[in-house]
Amino acid sequence: MRILVISDLHANLTALEAVLADAGTVDATWCLGDVIGYGPDPNDVVERVRAIPNLTCVLGNHDVAVLGQMDDAVFNTEARRSLLWQKKALSDGNKGYLESLPQETLVIDQVTMAHGSPRDPVWEYVLNTLVARLNFESFETDYCFVGHSHIQCLFQLDLKKDRVSLEVPHVGQVLRLTPRAILNPGSVGQPRDRDPRAAYAIFDPDAQTWEPRRITYDIPAVQKRIRAAGLPEKHAARLVEGW
Ligand code: ZN
Repeated sequence: MRILVISDLHANLTALEAVLADAGTVDATWCLGDVIGYGPDPNDVVERVRAIPNLTCVLGNHDVAVLGQMDDAVFNTEARRSLLWQKKALSDGNKGYLESLPQETLVIDQVTMAHGSPRDPVWEYVLNTLVARLNFESFETDYCFVGHSHIQCLFQLDLKKDRVSLEVPHVGQVLRLTPRAILNPGSVGQPRDRDPRAAYAIFDPDAQTWEPRRITYDIPAVQKRIRAAGLPEKHAARLVEGW
C-alpha cells in the first residue's frame, strides 16, 4: 500500500502537479495542511486537492486565517499581505470546502496527523528534539505526521534509552520505521531546508516504510505569477533558495 503524504502546498500549483506526477499511483493521499497562503494559485490548488481521490486533509494556520477564523495580526507583514490577497481571490465554493476540513488532529490506524504538532495542531512548530520530546506525550499512536516547519525530517524516540533524536534522511532512502516517531514530509510549495525541490513522502503501512522524496519543478513560472499578482517579492525569491 502506498500513501502519499503532502504538506504546506501554499497555493503553488506547479509544485503540486510535479509532486502528484512524480508520486505515481497511490492508494490514498494524506495532506497535513496549509493548502493556501504565500503562493499565486489558491483556487487552482484547492480545486486540484479536492479532485484527489481518497484524500484526508487537515487545516493549517494559513488555511484557518484565510477562513477568517484567526486574527491576521499574528502573521508577519508579508504573510499578512499575501493572506489578504488570498482571502479576496478564493471563491466561496473553495472557502466552503476548506471550512469542511478539521483543525484538530486526525487518527488513522497507527498514525496521528497534525499540521503543527499533536499538542497544538495549528500553531506549534516541531523544530528540535525538546519540542518533539514534549509532543510524544500528546499522541498515542506509533507515528505522528506533521508539517508546518517546511523541513523534511524525522524525530525518533528510542524507547529503551528514552531519548529523542533528529534525523534528516537522504532523499530516495527508504526508511524502515520503528515506533515511535514524528515524521515531516517537508513542504510541497515552499521548502525551507535549503533544497528548493518540492518535498513529499510515501508511507507504506504494510511494509512500515517511509520514503522522503524531492522533485524539481518550474520555479520561474511560479515566481512570474507571484510577481504578476503583486504578492511580496520575498515569497518569489525564497523559492529558488529553498528557504
Ligand atoms: Zn506552511
